[in-house]
Amino acid sequence: MTALPGSLPARPQAGESEPVTPALSTPGLLLKLYRPDLVRALEALDIPPYRYAQVLEHLLRHPDTPFSEATSLPTELRAALADLGHNTLETAAHAVAADGTTKFLCRTRDGHEVECVFMPYGRRATVCVSSQVGCPVGCVFCATGGLGFRRDLSAAEIVDQVRLAAVAAARTGHRLSNVVYMGMGEPLLNLPAVLASIRLLTYPRGVGLSHRALSVSTIGLPAGIRRLARAEPQVNLALSLHAATDELRRRLVPGRYCQPLAAVMAAARDHFALTHRKLLVEYVLLEGINDSPEDARNLARLLKGMVVTVNLLPWNPLPRSLLRDPGGTGRPDSARTAALRFAPSPLATVQTFAEILRRADIEAVMRRSKGAEIRAACGQLAADRGSYRARG
Ligand code: SF4
Repeated sequence: MTALPGSLPARPQAGESEPVTPALSTPGLLLKLYRPDLVRALEALDIPPYRYAQVLEHLLRHPDTPFSEATSLPTELRAALADLGHNTLETAAHAVAADGTTKFLCRTRDGHEVECVFMPYGRRATVCVSSQVGCPVGCVFCATGGLGFRRDLSAAEIVDQVRLAAVAAARTGHRLSNVVYMGMGEPLLNLPAVLASIRLLTYPRGVGLSHRALSVSTIGLPAGIRRLARAEPQVNLALSLHAATDELRRRLVPGRYCQPLAAVMAAARDHFALTHRKLLVEYVLLEGINDSPEDARNLARLLKGMVVTVNLLPWNPLPRSLLRDPGGTGRPDSARTAALRFAPSPLATVQTFAEILRRADIEAVMRRSKGAEIRAACGQLAADRGSYRARG
């Protein structure tokens, strides 16, 4: 691929670290990436390589069928794999909303809990997956941001959220069509595992999703945005802006991961130059904080000339328990406690905000909150359960 004039190079510069997965095309290597424990078991049994593809296909295509019932595999292999388990996650809890949105609280083998959300739209369904246990970014309006950070998820733990959702989709007659990396965590801080999961989800003999059906969200990490563009140019980028000035953004996204807007937008432009994928901008509207006509005009100026859709998102109030004890540390957190006073913007305000963007030739979509009654927003269910309280 040739770099466009003035854009980023297709390969990393000398000295630049590149946390992308190596070129992996064979099922055996993909399986190793996904579940090294399974590969070790196959190697120990001296199993021929073509079985690797069968194991991988079984995992990805039959998420609800344990190895013991995998009739495509020989009996001794089924027994060996059954001991290792069919999924890296188990469902600790789930809740179903009236609109069919289903939130799964998934427990990892080491006892952490992460969320994934299954969202049906007509006959299709989108899955929102987590990429980390908690999140180190700490946005003050986000329930996950108040939970603290525990660890990155592995590629298998990301893919297995989709497998759990695929079972729900099959039961309700929906086709799993899209995956969005917008759950708990900042995906670009766990890019190797995210890229590995993308390879697995787009493996044609597995789930077989199109790259264009995947969207990776970020709070705006310029280096990660460029690496994603180089590694997966067909995958969509969703940029969580939430503010159009640095001053306001630093209030909402405190800490070192809040990069200057000029650098973030330069990376977003580089992303488009390489990928030609329309940028998605996520903007959570908070009454009296970032929803004024002036805020809308600032956003329009920031996005001027870009190929972009702005998703205007309703805010879901945070659990008060989380605000009183952010991250389960017992320490006060003035920025997060200030979020107690946040409120979702009224409909009329949202409409005015959208209209200002549209008059500036920027596509703006007012999103409704799916599954609000089951606390489907990122981190809410885990926060409600106090999942993080026991671990310091
Ligand atoms: S909004 Fe995203 S980046 Fe910010 S704390 Fe929540 S999960 Fe992390």
